[in-house]
Amino acid sequence: MKPPSRSSAAARDARRLSHKSTGCSRLEHYDDVKVTVIGGGVVGLGTAYELARAGAEVTLVERDRLGAGASSGNTGWITPALCAVPVPAPGVVGQALKWMLRPDSPFLLRPRLDPGFAAWLWHFRNACAPARFSAGLQALVAHNRGAVGALLDWQAQGVEFESYREGTIFAALTEAALRNEHELYARLQAEGFPVEVELLSGDEARDREPALSDRVAAGLFSPDEWHVRPESLTAGLVDALRRCGCEVREGVTVTQLEREREGWRLATTSGEIGAERVVVTASVWSSDLLRPLGYRLPLEAAKGYSITAAGGGTRPRHAVYLLEARVACSPFAEGVRLAGTLELAGRDISLNRTRVRAIEHAAETYLRWRPVDPDLEWAGLRPLAPDGLPVIGAVPGCQGLFVSTGHGMAGITLAAVSAQLLAPFVLHGNEPPELISLSPARFA
Ligand SMILES: Cc1cc2nc3c(=O)[nH]c(=O)nc-3n(C[C@H](O)[C@H](O)[C@H](O)COP(=O)(O)OP(=O)(O)OC[C@H]3O[C@@H](n4cnc5c(N)ncnc54)[C@H](O)[C@@H]3O)c2cc1C
Repeated sequence: MKPPSRSSAAARDARRLSHKSTGCSRLEHYDDVKVTVIGGGVVGLGTAYELARAGAEVTLVERDRLGAGASSGNTGWITPALCAVPVPAPGVVGQALKWMLRPDSPFLLRPRLDPGFAAWLWHFRNACAPARFSAGLQALVAHNRGAVGALLDWQAQGVEFESYREGTIFAALTEAALRNEHELYARLQAEGFPVEVELLSGDEARDREPALSDRVAAGLFSPDEWHVRPESLTAGLVDALRRCGCEVREGVTVTQLEREREGWRLATTSGEIGAERVVVTASVWSSDLLRPLGYRLPLEAAKGYSITAAGGGTRPRHAVYLLEARVACSPFAEGVRLAGTLELAGRDISLNRTRVRAIEHAAETYLRWRPVDPDLEWAGLRPLAPDGLPVIGAVPGCQGLFVSTGHGMAGITLAAVSAQLLAPFVLHGNEPPELISLSPARFA
């Protein structure tokens, strides 16, 4: 990669000065490159922040409101071990076929006549083979192990957000279900993931988390996995970006990317933007921007739902995973949020009442708390690659163009570590070892 062309030293010095006076936590090593980030979800905001800290002149473009996509109504779990298990895994296809017969199950696949979707499903099925699963798990272990440290770095640098570090409890109705989960954690430990968990009987689980119902037969406590209020994390990043002098453009859609001399020209609904480097963090819509450049990024939208309510009954103190129902529960300063379901149904964002009801029903089964009179019922689209791994790195054949997406169920957990690893790659061109298995080149 060619060295970045430099904007004037005077402009750089002015930005350094402004960083100092506004409290932007900048790096000692300072790079001065013009970078545009497309998409203002947690991944785009985090990437823009790390680039701005490194001294880049950053413009972030978001077509809607910042943080309003999948990064808003989710449960905010910071669970890098849980998320180191790829979605495509041995046995998943059989389980998914069983679930498809039940309208209230945690999984739905709506068939559609689209060769891209058929190819995605074929690739997903292949990724469930034991050897591919192991390779995916090792790639995620390498990437995810820095997740908590990276997020704590943000907090130490002054990015403000609500965080709850009480740990996560897995609650199961059967000991068999919990054994499977425990085996996965043992496997992660064997692969070198630094995570400790504690097995609990039903009563021990209730002692630790009084909101669990009598139906819970066994539990698992993961003390180092925790949660944040996701809306507060994106708001904290927006504040930090502004302190770093980043230009933020809301309500502007990027419609086309075009190579221009040493850099890129972006057509938008509000004029053109020139940039030396571009990072696409536009979730499933990243594919639409990259396809005209000859790169096909296979991403599907994996829809999920959430309900947020003050509710009634015994309020949970921890993040709780309602295991067989695949429902996550997070208590926040205001309200408790339940979330679940993985629906492969295209980019449709409508609320399916049967699925929302199934999430409420899970609360009735596992908890002594009920989501009565919800303040928010929400659906969001997780960007999911067929091998279940994020897609982070240089777009093949497009110098100066990068992508960071495909974080699936783990965008809140991984936004900080993904951004910390990607920013120096964008600025200096050296691919960190953790990103090699996640490279977009694997789909070229
Ligand atoms: C129900 C549910 C629960 C979840 N729970 C958790 C959890 O507990 N922990 C966790 O780690 N993860 C969780 N996730 C996953 C997490 O929400 C996602 O991985 C993450 O939000 C993805 O972030 P993103 O920035 O890639 O996408 P988004 O937040 O969707 O942001 C992409 C942005 O790009 C913008 N955009 C698209 N096209 C353009 C364009 N052409 N021009 C300009 N802007 C554009 C969009 O408007 C959008 O704002 C959950 C997801 C769901 C649905």
